[in-house]
Amino acid sequence: MIKRPIDLSHDFLAEVLDKDSIAVDATMGNGYDTAFLAALAKTVYAFDVQEQALQNTQKRLTQLNLTNVKLILDGHENLDRYVTKPIRAAIFNLGYLPSADKSVITKPDTTLQAIEKILAGLEVGGRLSIMIYYGHEGGDREKDAVLEFVKELPQENFAAMLYQPLNQINTPPFLVMVEKLKEQ
Ligand code: SAH
Repeated sequence: MIKRPIDLSHDFLAEVLDKDSIAVDATMGNGYDTAFLAALAKTVYAFDVQEQALQNTQKRLTQLNLTNVKLILDGHENLDRYVTKPIRAAIFNLGYLPSADKSVITKPDTTLQAIEKILAGLEVGGRLSIMIYYGHEGGDREKDAVLEFVKELPQENFAAMLYQPLNQINTPPFLVMVEKLKEQ
C-alpha cells in the first residue's frame, strides 16, 4: 500500500533517530507522535497549549511505559526556553485537535517562529516533518506561510521536500520534510 503522508512523516524521522537523540513534538495533541518519538529517542520535548493534551499524552505514555518525555504546557514558539541541546528530529501536526477545543489552532506567526527555532537547533543530518492540515478557517493562510518560508531556505543548508495527495477530495493533509545539510 502506498504510504500516507502521516506514515511517511514518521518513517522520515525514524531513519535518523536513535537512543542518543533529542526529539521534539511541537504539537502534542493526543500524544500519538510523542509516543512514537519516545520509543526511538533518548528524550522527547513535547509542547501544547492545552492542558487536555498533556493529560491525554501522559495517559498514553504511562500505558506504554515511556518515561523519557518532558511534557511542556507552553507554545512551541518558546521552545528555545526548554530545549537547549541539539535536536535530531522534530514534528508538527498543524491545525486543531479533532477531539478537543477546535478553536485552539496553530497560527502562522507562532508556527513560523517555532519552525525557525527548530531549524536553528537541528543537528546536521537532523530532520523536521510538518504535517499540514489546512481545511479549517485560517488553515490556508498557515499553509501558504509555511510553504513560502520553506521554499526560501538556502539549498546549501537545507533539503526540503513535499509529499501530497493529488487526486483526493476535500483538503487532505500533506507533508513537508526538511533535513539540515550544513550549519548556516
Ligand atoms: N490536525 C491534526 C491535529 C493537530 S493537533 C489532526 O487532525 O490529526 C494541534 C495541536 O497543536 C493542538 O493540540 C493544539 O492545542 C496545539 N497548539 C496550538 N497552538 C500551539 C502552540 N502555539 N504551541 C504548541 N501547541 C499548539
